[in-house]
Amino acid sequence: MSNDTTSGNNIAAALQEVRASMECAAKSDGRTAADVELIAVSKTYDADAISPALEAGQRVFGENRVQEAATKWPALREVYQGVELHLIGPLQSNKARQAVELFDVIHTVDRRKIADAIATEMKRQDKQVSLFIQVNTGEEQQKAGIAPRDTVEFVAYCRATLGLEIIGLMCIPPVSEEPGVHFALLSELAKDCGLSKLSMGMSSDYEIAIQFGATHVRVGSAIFGARA
Ligand SMILES: *Cc1c(COP(=O)(O)O)cnc(C)c1O
Repeated sequence: MSNDTTSGNNIAAALQEVRASMECAAKSDGRTAADVELIAVSKTYDADAISPALEAGQRVFGENRVQEAATKWPALREVYQGVELHLIGPLQSNKARQAVELFDVIHTVDRRKIADAIATEMKRQDKQVSLFIQVNTGEEQQKAGIAPRDTVEFVAYCRATLGLEIIGLMCIPPVSEEPGVHFALLSELAKDCGLSKLSMGMSSDYEIAIQFGATHVRVGSAIFGARA
């Protein structure tokens, strides 16, 4: 990505458009824009593409790979204060140390081994990271996430046994299905778990997600353009 003024302006304009759409969707759900956090998903984009978003005031970003985030964000964080980084991609337990060092929020806790590793690292580093549990709402074989029927028990394990701060649930609906069905299921499961935060909605469906109660939307290509 070049950082000429044209692409920089485009990114700032796209951010504004997404924020305006979010506000409309929030209003139709009886909420306001302030009730929904926009996570700008900057995966695959380099610092030159991310900087215009930071210049425009965006501070909450999502990355899906620990290693990629480690190469980009420490330097950007030295220039821009108040950045909040969210891990939205699958986490291996051997990356838990680095993930806890780098990220403020992790959306992809989906099995005991990962929950255990994160709990151990948070103690070791004396650092609190907010956590979402990823639910495989479509029960897709190849997709990460805990099965819907196991969610309540897993959340209880994370909280009671590990003392983790679980703030909500996250899902990625199957590409070929109506997303609203999955957003509604996630919302129901969150109620069953006594959780109030819902991480759901991407570029193609964030407005629908907000209508179903999303508190965090993860939007990449609608802001930064199509990924290579
Ligand atoms: C890439 C990604 C997004 C953003 O996708 P866009 O379609 O570019 O908005 C959201 N959530 C997750 C988990 C992702 O991996």
